Amino acid sequence: MSKKKVILFYPPGALFQRGEDRCQQNIDDGSAQAMRACNDLGYAAAILLRDGYEVKLQDYQTQGDTFDMLLKDMDEFAPDMIMMSITNTTIFDDLKVVNELKSRYNPIVVLKGALFYDPEQAMLDMLDLSNVDYMIGGEIDFCIGKIADYCFKGIGKPEEINNILYKDEVGKIVPTRFHVWDEDLDAQPFPARQLMNNALYIRPDTKEPMATIQTARGCPSQCVFCLTPEISGKKVRFRSPQNVLDEMVECYEKFGIKNFFFKADTFTINPEWVNEMCNLLIHSKLYGKIQFTANSRVRPLQKETLQLMKEAGCFLVAFGFESGSDEILQKMRKGATVEENRQAARWCHEIGLPFWGYFVIGFPWETREDILLTKKLVMETDPDFIEVTVALPFYGTPMYETCKQENLLAKSVLGSDFFHSSAKGTMHLSIEEVMKLRKNILLGFYLRPKYIFRKMKECITQPSVFVQYVKYGIKLVVNLFK
Ligand code: SF4
Repeated sequence: MSKKKVILFYPPGALFQRGEDRCQQNIDDGSAQAMRACNDLGYAAAILLRDGYEVKLQDYQTQGDTFDMLLKDMDEFAPDMIMMSITNTTIFDDLKVVNELKSRYNPIVVLKGALFYDPEQAMLDMLDLSNVDYMIGGEIDFCIGKIADYCFKGIGKPEEINNILYKDEVGKIVPTRFHVWDEDLDAQPFPARQLMNNALYIRPDTKEPMATIQTARGCPSQCVFCLTPEISGKKVRFRSPQNVLDEMVECYEKFGIKNFFFKADTFTINPEWVNEMCNLLIHSKLYGKIQFTANSRVRPLQKETLQLMKEAGCFLVAFGFESGSDEILQKMRKGATVEENRQAARWCHEIGLPFWGYFVIGFPWETREDILLTKKLVMETDPDFIEVTVALPFYGTPMYETCKQENLLAKSVLGSDFFHSSAKGTMHLSIEEVMKLRKNILLGFYLRPKYIFRKMKECITQPSVFVQYVKYGIKLVVNLFK
């Protein structure tokens, strides 16, 4: 019997981090970020290949392909099932793609995205889901194989697959059990990078391919704007450092990848784990040949952890500083202080470890003075790169509830993103004022002569890196003025 076929894809269109359920970032309108690897598709592909399916994987958006290319693949590959990653922002366009493909080819349609995580009925009612068969809200690698096995081999039942929505005999959408997470991450196969176009996902400064390696899932913090505790759980589930290293070795040896993004909601949360990982790397055959970047909270954090990371090959660490106001940090339940933000930055400067600062403005309680405190912190901490996003009330977050109660939602939260917010603004500022302050912070930071000279000096032996910086600089200015 011929194998059943599944195509896994990101649709053509604007660039969004479709693999990152937490932020689903709009890449085109941001500052210096590049698309990260489509690991959600890669994990799904690995599971399906393991279970005996024929799989095609395509990231049309990052390849810059058109809808015709997708149709051509549908004609040639003739899949029995299609699986597309969606975002809160693109969902309406995503559903147009689904409707078109269903009407032309009639495959089983599976969508995956955070908005399907235990959703409100009112939100589902806004969507035309008539042509969708399954919606995965949880982690794709723990769902997709079971859905395919049910559809094609008659194994199991949809109601037994956690964290999904399916349709019953009369077409009613039924949720299964949510808020349960599989623990054994080491048991999962590595993403099927042989099907991914790894050259598409680059390190922004050097343009070299960069693999995303998921090292842990979940976060015990409770930031009011973040989807992670809801969709990945408050308990952090770690892979073993050896399992992570094995995946890195595979990337290096099979695919020639030397740069890595360690994807964890907060990489440094467990210093013992980081120590073990870094020491393994330092004593491995990869030492001195690879580099990595990772996210970190500022609490808990130790200077020694940052030092060891640098020694193991860390070229950049990214901190979610969020705000320069202790009152706002408290209200967003960040579990960190402005002084801890300053301390993390100080340590990086002392060690010589470059760092990103992520800042968020436009929280419901914020005044102009609060945002100016954030600007002050941006300048004081003086990161290598920054991004300032506007707080987005994602469905399922406490911030969504606050915005609803305070009548701050201008429109549906679907269809909006960090740069095109669905909020009317804060209780004290209009959204236009918030956007103006964002522009003021970004231009104030990046256009400082001191900053420009520093970056020029750093790039003196690497002109290609300087060219990349200039490109991102131009993109930022264009985005801020368009
Ligand atoms: S620290 Fe806050 S923003 Fe970061 S992953 Fe955890 S909950 Fe989300």
